[in-house]
Amino acid sequence: MPATQSAIHRLLACLALAGAAACAVSQQQEVELGATTAAQIDTMLPLIHDAAVVSYINSLGNQLARATDKRDLDWHFTVVDSKEVNAFALPGGWIYVNRGLIERAENMSQVAGVLGHEIGHVTRRHTVQQMQQQQEVGGAAVLLCTLTKVCESGAGETAVNVAGSALFAKFSRSDEAEADAEGVKTSVKSGIDPDGIPEMFRILLNERKSNPSAVDAFFASHPLEEARISATQAQIKQYPPAALRGLTQDTPEFQSFKRRLQGLPPSPKPKG
Ligand SMILES: [Zn+2]
Repeated sequence: MPATQSAIHRLLACLALAGAAACAVSQQQEVELGATTAAQIDTMLPLIHDAAVVSYINSLGNQLARATDKRDLDWHFTVVDSKEVNAFALPGGWIYVNRGLIERAENMSQVAGVLGHEIGHVTRRHTVQQMQQQQEVGGAAVLLCTLTKVCESGAGETAVNVAGSALFAKFSRSDEAEADAEGVKTSVKSGIDPDGIPEMFRILLNERKSNPSAVDAFFASHPLEEARISATQAQIKQYPPAALRGLTQDTPEFQSFKRRLQGLPPSPKPKG
């Protein structure tokens, strides 16, 4: 789209001339940056197009996104057909969660917690800030890689890594804490049990002990330690008990979504 291209070029020119600090990225530019990157990711990553899977992840994701102050964004939720555990967000409202993460979740609230966390990275604009910072520290290649076809040659594992971790440098601890707090708030507001967040962290930390390579990509972009579990639990404790009563932990729709995923052909093997 020429309109999108020119907005991206303006943004790039601004970044090149003035440095990231001077370039205020508008919400519209943020959406355009996300859309361009998402189009790249569509060609690089194996995505699940099964209608039932697409429909469920979008209905759960939108239930959460509607509870944020960015309900006006056009949110997109996609399941990546990878056994590895990962989830990531692009500026403007594109959220990706790997099949491997969903398979490890026991109930709906745990996947909702991860989506709520990624939504938090978007609403607090960590994703767009991160792209700007990478530009600032000489990461022009990363942004160009994001915006052009240069990095498309490496299919499979390389592409998964590009999209899942290398593209996005580690979020800072304070970004992670903020996204966790947003995840808790968003879960509660949308009627979902926020305990899913510390529970999912526990599952991932346990997996890191037994099968570290499966969760590498997730830990590479989202520093996760015991402290995040206790901080999240402490935040949940601050709610009056009445506010947490009756929140949904699981649904039959989530369990049939999981069964649907289990019934799909195995994820493609990463190409070396
Ligand atoms: Zn994160």
